[in-house]
Amino acid sequence: MRVLTSLKSPLNELFLFELEDGSRIEAVFYRGDTLCVSTQVGCPVRCGFCASGKEGLIRNLSWKEIYGQYELVKGRRPIKRIAVAGIGEPLANWESVKEAFWRFKGEGLKVSFYTTGFPLSNLRELISFPHAGVSVSVHSLDEKLRRKIMPFAGSLSRLLEFLRGEIPRLTKKKRRKLSLAYLLMEGINDGYEELERLARLASELGLSVHLLFYNDALGFATLSQEGYQRAIAFLKEKGIRITLSNRFRKDKLGGCGTLVANRLI
Ligand code: SF4
Repeated sequence: MRVLTSLKSPLNELFLFELEDGSRIEAVFYRGDTLCVSTQVGCPVRCGFCASGKEGLIRNLSWKEIYGQYELVKGRRPIKRIAVAGIGEPLANWESVKEAFWRFKGEGLKVSFYTTGFPLSNLRELISFPHAGVSVSVHSLDEKLRRKIMPFAGSLSRLLEFLRGEIPRLTKKKRRKLSLAYLLMEGINDGYEELERLARLASELGLSVHLLFYNDALGFATLSQEGYQRAIAFLKEKGIRITLSNRFRKDKLGGCGTLVANRLI
């Protein structure tokens, strides 16, 4: 495994790795202290907005390949946090992700996750871990629309049933580290009816919402600054705690769905 190249933008630095079998994966260094790592080559969830999942799953990464992304960048950049939020669904490669997680913890790193939630048994184990944050991607609370946006994600109703059952059992401290991730796409899931459902769920579960700004990688949709601000104001008015997309997330090389295994270099 080696670093093939790195691309710098004003906010982020993207590292492209070549694995022993010639596969390529990416990691992004952002915020001056965080490395976002990949867990699979391709992704089985195949979200319509995501360049990384376009071709589906090619293969799982071994724990060494997940940890290796950190090892290859750590001498070059000051990494204090790991975001398991790059290419792949971490719960779908759980054994390798778990091993890499404990290795990261052994280095004193804070580790946070983005996941679509399945298998639920793995999500149950993950939320019991000493993680620094788990964000569950919902993106829509309408089963039909969600299936359109995330065709191979697990069932929304099963996910919600799980969250309703598990969250009340968590300590307050653990609950505060969980959030719902919602990627805003103009004309798709940013209507008031959709946002109202999101607000209701967040308030019922007592979770904050991580509101992501769509970073147009595939021409799937766009989002204006005004649309983003409108959604923020709407949710704030409902009393929902919101974490916003950091500046890096709006950057071409840093947003959800912009990591592509075969970027032309
Ligand atoms: S957004 Fe995440 S879960 Fe969806 S296809 Fe891309 S990498 Fe997979």
